[in-house]
Amino acid sequence: MAETTTQDTIVAVSTPPGRGGIGIVRLSGPEARGITEKLLALETALEPRRARFAHLNDETGQRIDDAVVTFFAAPNSYTGEDVIEIAAHGSPVVLEWIVRRACTLGARPAHAGEFTERAFFRGRIDLTQAEAVRDLIDAQTIEQARVAAEQVGGSLAKRIRPCKEDLVALIALLEAGIDFAEDDIDVAPSAQIEARLQAVLSPLEDLLATFAYGRILREGVRIAVIGRPNAGKSSLFNALAERERAIVTPIAGTTRDVVTERVSIGGIPVELMDTAGLRESEDFVEQLGIARSREALAEADLVLFIVDLQHGISEEERETIASLEGRPHLVVANKIDLAPLLASDFALIPTSANTGEGLDRLREALLQQLRGSQNASASGLLTNLRQRDAVARAVEALHRAIEAIHASIPHEMLLLDIYEALRGLDELTGSTTADEILGVIFSTFCIGK
Ligand code: GDP
Ligand code: ZN
Repeated sequence: MAETTTQDTIVAVSTPPGRGGIGIVRLSGPEARGITEKLLALETALEPRRARFAHLNDETGQRIDDAVVTFFAAPNSYTGEDVIEIAAHGSPVVLEWIVRRACTLGARPAHAGEFTERAFFRGRIDLTQAEAVRDLIDAQTIEQARVAAEQVGGSLAKRIRPCKEDLVALIALLEAGIDFAEDDIDVAPSAQIEARLQAVLSPLEDLLATFAYGRILREGVRIAVIGRPNAGKSSLFNALAERERAIVTPIAGTTRDVVTERVSIGGIPVELMDTAGLRESEDFVEQLGIARSREALAEADLVLFIVDLQHGISEEERETIASLEGRPHLVVANKIDLAPLLASDFALIPTSANTGEGLDRLREALLQQLRGSQNASASGLLTNLRQRDAVARAVEALHRAIEAIHASIPHEMLLLDIYEALRGLDELTGSTTADEILGVIFSTFCIGK
């Protein structure tokens, strides 16, 4: 673990391993500029935020490559230290040679995540932003990238800051109450303290609720497609997956296995599970398929129940739909191209897997279900378990403090809970976080980040 007063200069290849059009070697630290000027045999000093063309020659003066070098002066750089980026052609041997040369001139190879770690220790970013850099690099859909980019920009930190300030102010108030206790000054009556605690608790509870959508974005969701044989499950699955995958056939009961497909719906990674019909059957092989479809149903985060408009909705189907109450589900009325929509006491989404009618509305309805009450464009989501646990710790402590007020426990005693709430928020942003937690976070980075 690096110290806050890092004095050495680190170097690493920052572009992905393998060959590429260009490759970048990054240096950070007090000697970054001096080392680079020697390495490139520059006759004049590098100027901040100015790209410069230079030759890469070996020790004997032989040309190895050309490079464009950019200097970012401290503190206005990614790490907060002097940073140099040397962009050369993306040949691994050339890039490794630059790193070795930099090391002979006084740099040392960076370890995984060390650039971001330095940015954190220099106070350029907080822990939520450091995690977001990793999430942005790892993003598999544009929506994931969007949320991560917002968090890199400090969206979560911004949501937390006023809560922390309020807690610190409240602590100061209560500490003062203790100090002046002999003077019999009632600094803050219970109702006022409770109101202030509540003012911190509410936004934190809202924040906690964002975790469901944050996790969906991160880990994706599983959607089970169920319904009577021939309702059009496989066809809709294929239409949503935008790829031929499940076998579509006009013979009832063909989909015996559970077919899964990974797709992106509105930027959310989705695993679609196409299942056999949920109906009693004499056919043993079909029974197997049905058992699996019940399993798929149990595992699903959301159920798409497909009814066939040509057949109407049977009593059995109504019962199944009623049994889905209380969990995320959508009822799709398929084959709208063949038969008119039915009247029903639950919402139906009319579609035609064949003509594509209603599919956009279905995708939209799916997204709404997945986002739940979350405003998807709301910034500052909790995206991982570490963040959730930290906020939950603060929320629990604040609940305890409010209960303590109700139980007329002396105000001094509330301080324990309020300090605990503050520690939860500190843990989230990394202000006072234990080194081992930091080590775990930064070790999931790759070298050069
Ligand atoms: P599953 O058994 O529920 O998976 O149903 P399939 O997707 O295999 O479809 C059964 C039959 O219905 C196939 O012949 C499909 O082409 C047809 N089908 C599915 N959806 C529609 C639709 O919206 N309109 C029409 N006209 N036919 C459909
Ligand atoms: Zn099918």
